[in-house]
Amino acid sequence: MPLEPQIIRRFADACGRQAILTDQGECWAYGYDNSRQHACPDLVVLPHRPGQIQECVQICRQFSVPLTTRGRGTNTTGATVPIHSGVILSTERMDRIIETDPPNRSMRTEPGVLNSAVQERAAEDGLFWPPDPSSSDFCTVGGNLACNAAGPRAIKYGTCRENTLELRAVTGTGELIRTGNATTKGVVGFDLTRLLIGSEGSLAIITEARLKLSPVAERTDTIRASYQDTKSALDAVVNILSQNITPCALEFIDEGSLNLIRNQKSMDLDTSTKAMLIIEIDGLEETVYANVEAVLRFANNTGCIDLRNASEPRLKKELWLARKVLSQALRTFAPNKINEDVVVPVSQLPALLSGLESLSKKSSIPIFCFGHAGNGNLHINLLYDKSNIEEATSARNCLVKVFDLVLSLNGTLSGEHGVGIAKRNWISREIEPGTLDLMVKIKRLFDPDNILNPGKTLPDTVSAD
Ligand SMILES: Cc1cc2nc3c(=O)[nH]c(=O)nc-3n(C[C@H](O)[C@H](O)[C@H](O)COP(=O)(O)OP(=O)(O)OC[C@H]3O[C@@H](n4cnc5c(N)ncnc54)[C@H](O)[C@@H]3O)c2cc1C
Repeated sequence: MPLEPQIIRRFADACGRQAILTDQGECWAYGYDNSRQHACPDLVVLPHRPGQIQECVQICRQFSVPLTTRGRGTNTTGATVPIHSGVILSTERMDRIIETDPPNRSMRTEPGVLNSAVQERAAEDGLFWPPDPSSSDFCTVGGNLACNAAGPRAIKYGTCRENTLELRAVTGTGELIRTGNATTKGVVGFDLTRLLIGSEGSLAIITEARLKLSPVAERTDTIRASYQDTKSALDAVVNILSQNITPCALEFIDEGSLNLIRNQKSMDLDTSTKAMLIIEIDGLEETVYANVEAVLRFANNTGCIDLRNASEPRLKKELWLARKVLSQALRTFAPNKINEDVVVPVSQLPALLSGLESLSKKSSIPIFCFGHAGNGNLHINLLYDKSNIEEATSARNCLVKVFDLVLSLNGTLSGEHGVGIAKRNWISREIEPGTLDLMVKIKRLFDPDNILNPGKTLPDTVSAD
């Protein structure tokens, strides 16, 4: 049911007429995200200040209007699709870097600042913010925090949870809270910062963050390692992580995914290459050389075909570009892919890949994998034709078995993409009933009227009495 004019007027009074969109055509554009699902909101609000967000939450609470916070809608799980209509609160006008603080290696930002803008500003002081999703040019700090986003650097530098000092946020009761503090140590009270990070806008709306920055390494070397089979590449990953040097990136690409980028001239790939690792080592100039030598020894097993230094800026850029376009290349190749981002303990990667190979054979569903092997986090793509009912059923059944396999290997169903609507009915397979019950109770404390991103993240079926 559309919002009544008197409710729309309240939002206009709170944020200003220029900060609300009511036209269906304009609202339509805010109803999608990278999950390719869509639902049109009744209203879009574009606040400038935390106080306006507080007022919006209070109006939503008073009239029981669902409120979905949106950064730039790049998430892959439907987390910003307003499935119950209501209001989309877009943070795009809260895009100020408030303060940089090089001596304390931190930066305060509003939620709508793009990840790439943070990196550019931090670089002026020789610093960077470790979360580096491939979407960095068009995703926001608020979205990164709400999804606990990460990327290749997480293996050494961690995810948003390890790189955020303090948050300010508006809860579902309209209260403005502060979690964490300006220091890199602190144990006073519960760690609500880590709780809000990854909560997908279902507990509170983040209005400001103090990000923890790291110094840019003096030198970063890049190695391209090619293997005759998947097992050799993954054995190398396990070996590399068994010694005492931590790479700052350790990415895996399987044969199917390699085939999508094999023809790029810059790749210069031998046809016998069936799997590849991108390994990066950073640190002080004088230590990187020795560390690379050590890592190469562990990467160089009997299945290794080629170890190539790709540190030259042009080569490095092309290699990472090829890695970053994989997701989109797969979508072009197979528009109906099921894309999961599961994680297993690193030592279980060989078992995961051999299990996937056998599931793929049994179900006749091609499965392509690539991703952050150094964290045990792989993007698994099940390719199928949606118009073929038999194939679509087979893909769905195969997915159930993929999840069973991941959980049997002590893994988790998502490493960085989150739950949204795509995986909410699966999470009770991973999280025990008592723990899930506690999560529902926490949600009720933060958002007693269930107005913040309803129908996402936690399954409907859980009861917390
Ligand atoms: C090509 C491509 C590559 C990608 N690569 C990666 C990758 O390498 N690593 C990775 O982790 N992800 C990746 N992603 C996924 C996505 O970019 C990230 O999840 C990103 O953090 C989402 O940011 P956003 O601003 O688009 O947020 P949105 O998609 O707008 O929102 C995501 C979630 O955050 C919530 N939210 C947004 N802002 C706030 C706020 N201020 N307060 C509270 N909740 C909020 C929303 O309600 C929603 O639940 C990729 C996506 C694409 C399209």
